[in-house]
Amino acid sequence: MYIININGIVQGVGFRPFVYKLAYNNNLKGYVRNSSQGVEIAVTGDEISLNNFLKQLKNNSPEASIIDTMIVTTLPDSNFDSFQILPSLIDSGITHISPDLALCPDCLAEMNSTTDPRHEYSFINCTNCGPRYSIIKSLPYDRPATSMGKFEMCDYCSGEYSDPLNRRFHAQPVACSECGPRLQLLDCHKNPVPGDPLSLTRKLLKQGNIIAIKGIGGFHLACLATDDDPVNTLRNRKQRPHKPFAVMGRKEDLDKIVAVKPEDIQLLQSPAAPILILPSTGKYISQLVAPANPSLGIFLPYAPLHHLLLQDDLRFLVMTSGNFHDHPIAACIDELPPICDYYLTHNREILNRCDDSVIRAAQPHNIMIRRSRGYIPTPLSSDQILSDSFAAGAAMKLTFALAARNSIFLSPYIANNDTLNSLDFYQETYNKFCHWFKIHPKFAACDLQPDFMSTRFAEKLDIPLYRIQHHHAHIVAVMAEHQLDEPVIGIAYDGTGLGDDGIIWGSEIMIADCLSYQNKFHLEPLPLPGGDAAIKKPIRIAYAWLRQNMLDTDLLNNISDFEKNIITRQLASNLNVFSTSSMGRLFDCVSAMLDLVTQISFDAQAAMALEFICPENIMDYPPYEYYFDQQNIKIKPLLKNISHDLHQNIPHHIISARFHRTIIEFTLQAVILLRKESSINNVVLAGGVMQNRIIFSNLISLLKRNNFTVFTPRLFPPNDSSIALGQIIIANNLDK
Ligand SMILES: [Zn+2]
Ligand SMILES: [Zn+2]
Repeated sequence: MYIININGIVQGVGFRPFVYKLAYNNNLKGYVRNSSQGVEIAVTGDEISLNNFLKQLKNNSPEASIIDTMIVTTLPDSNFDSFQILPSLIDSGITHISPDLALCPDCLAEMNSTTDPRHEYSFINCTNCGPRYSIIKSLPYDRPATSMGKFEMCDYCSGEYSDPLNRRFHAQPVACSECGPRLQLLDCHKNPVPGDPLSLTRKLLKQGNIIAIKGIGGFHLACLATDDDPVNTLRNRKQRPHKPFAVMGRKEDLDKIVAVKPEDIQLLQSPAAPILILPSTGKYISQLVAPANPSLGIFLPYAPLHHLLLQDDLRFLVMTSGNFHDHPIAACIDELPPICDYYLTHNREILNRCDDSVIRAAQPHNIMIRRSRGYIPTPLSSDQILSDSFAAGAAMKLTFALAARNSIFLSPYIANNDTLNSLDFYQETYNKFCHWFKIHPKFAACDLQPDFMSTRFAEKLDIPLYRIQHHHAHIVAVMAEHQLDEPVIGIAYDGTGLGDDGIIWGSEIMIADCLSYQNKFHLEPLPLPGGDAAIKKPIRIAYAWLRQNMLDTDLLNNISDFEKNIITRQLASNLNVFSTSSMGRLFDCVSAMLDLVTQISFDAQAAMALEFICPENIMDYPPYEYYFDQQNIKIKPLLKNISHDLHQNIPHHIISARFHRTIIEFTLQAVILLRKESSINNVVLAGGVMQNRIIFSNLISLLKRNNFTVFTPRLFPPNDSSIALGQIIIANNLDK
């Protein structure tokens, strides 16, 4: 007899029915059951059948499952009458939770079939698809431990649920219109609207209404994407003038609105069903959906309800996270901003909120921008044994990390900023993750910045605390993904992160390993007058930097004499002036010099505008001048050249191309110098600036042409939401 213990994502993904069928087909006896470590199987039978069983177990496991470890123990035979699925075993181990899974093709076909009992049922699912993470209360994953516990199955559903050969065997969220969750349409005063919620919602959307729609991980705010009026109304009500919205459309309609390749469709149709940012065709969709943006974030319907909404002539919907500015996504109506005309809701509770994940299509590979629904809470496996530990993250694009044994669990995306509004969600998710994954942190890690909410949270845990430099954490996050522990040349280009010298860093080229770093090169620190005031108004940065370098400021528009006076006084008195080597701020400065964006309404807006006008072939344009002064990359010549080009009326796209090329060039020069000094050939790219496709693609190919081995973030974002991952690895090395 074999006892087989399997660890990984093996619960809620149809694993036990798969094992049952396999045992049945091979004529084996025994049992399978969920344990809190994963799945435990006992099988007896003849040797050929047993070997067959083991082989198929490894090779044919369900698509959404991930086997981390499989331990086979041989024991003396026991007497079994048959093969059975036993109730879950409660023990003290650790198991993993499946992410939410997009509707599968079988369920879609059933939902579309007029003869199926679940015809047009908005909550159809099976062992291959449906909500998982978002409906879990506790482990092991059984129906009473989910928000489906309160729905008693009808005979039809329980017949399928208990038939080991059925696709819905032990599918915990199984339901139908007789016994399961129901839709409800409410008006703006939250009073029920009589009639069929689905057809009414479609009609109301077509009339231009803004409707909050309850999805899998939270509410979306939806409106027609093809008309200016509703999009404009949504922008005004949400007080979000420029930040792009995502659009949901059907597969057959996608090529009308974006340039989509077969591999993009594959990703969009994957169980994770992320938002994918692709080049826009500029057709069909209102220009207000993604103003002045050559790309568009799109996703396919992933919940049954989404498929039912997009029917007939309703083709493209804006679907943006339902939340107040900088708040987490709403999981219930009361958390929504009061800006909706109607609410399409239902009575299946969202227990664990989770935003849509966002990926940007790029070369040589896609860039993860936000890792959340569909990927959370799948852990990253480490080849290092980690202590029970916690990493608090930073502030922007906030996430945290918890580690135990050889797994690192990243939280879902909490919120865009670590305001007090996100503290409850942060605390609640922390408690849940510790409980589910049985983690009791012995020590914690946080950013050097003392006034982050995340830092204060870590301080209050009252366990040993390691304060980790921001850009070191950026680089180590990428090292963790690639299991690197030898020293690397790490490039971390981003917005802001406190350095160990009190200066705000953001263009760091380091020699780093998982324990320590030496900061080797960075942009020369320049003044940031008024701190946040300058970040919100890049024109102030441009004015300060041109002045500081004694360059002509006459070419700057959109800055008042009043502002000029303030900045001049601030620079003279050095009051409320911060010093920064941030690459993000250099992008801001140049964007404002070109009059692209002089005042931002969302993070990275100015830098994005500069990227959007940049042609793809930057290597055809010569770089501007720059020079190294010891550790400092001096940018005065760069600013001087750009001023000169502006006076000469050189087209902005050429200036942008030469600017991007300059960054690539001085980066290459710096890493070549470091290779000579250290003999290190491995280069790591990290930081939010790596979301810039032009920098990302060209830097990788230039480094490779110069025979560097380049490591880039693939599974995790280059931006601050991966800070916690780097922090937890560094803290574990410091704690040894
Ligand atoms: Zn299904
Ligand atoms: Zn039913």
